[in-house]
Amino acid sequence: MKYLIIGNGVAGTTAAENIRKHDHTGEITMLTEEGTPFYSRIRLIEYLAGEANEEDIVIHSKEWYEKNNIQLLLDAHVSFIDQDAEEAVTAAGEHFSYDRLLLATGGTSFIPPISGSSIRVTDHKRCR
Ligand SMILES: Cc1cc2nc3c(=O)[nH]c(=O)nc-3n(C[C@H](O)[C@H](O)[C@H](O)COP(=O)(O)OP(=O)(O)OC[C@H]3O[C@@H](n4cnc5c(N)ncnc54)[C@H](O)[C@@H]3O)c2cc1C
Repeated sequence: MKYLIIGNGVAGTTAAENIRKHDHTGEITMLTEEGTPFYSRIRLIEYLAGEANEEDIVIHSKEWYEKNNIQLLLDAHVSFIDQDAEEAVTAAGEHFSYDRLLLATGGTSFIPPISGSSIRVTDHKRCR
């Protein structure tokens, strides 16, 4: 069985970890467009403040993937999924076939169109 997971955040990583618990021999491949393996998003603030370096916030180093026989590809932005051919294609033109595909690509934040939501914090004080 070939499992392809797109996304190397907590969702994709937890899925990979649990698939491996149930399938000891299946081929698990994870693709992420980022250049760093799974890191703590919560600790990004410390990283940006210069209070932690990159290694400090990485949760699973490359050794973890090797130990669990999970192939992790960094800097691999998936731009197209061909459902008929059962393969994902990266922006660099690499093709990854799969039997099972998991999209764990996270979400995109946005400000909902609620009246007053465009008011900045500094203006908000003035409105009270
Ligand atoms: C600064 C900060 C602080 C936070 N604090 C908290 C907190 O205290 N408590 C809490 O519950 N949550 C917190 N969150 C939110 C939490 O981190 C997210 O809910 C969580 O990371 C979502 O995990 P995910 O795996 O679904 O997606 P993500 O972590 O967003 O991972 C998505 C993955 O998909 C990859 N990807 C996306 N598109 C593609 C593509 N086309 N090709 C290849 N790869 C792709 C990305 O590279 C990434 O690896 C915080 C987030 C941030 C940024």
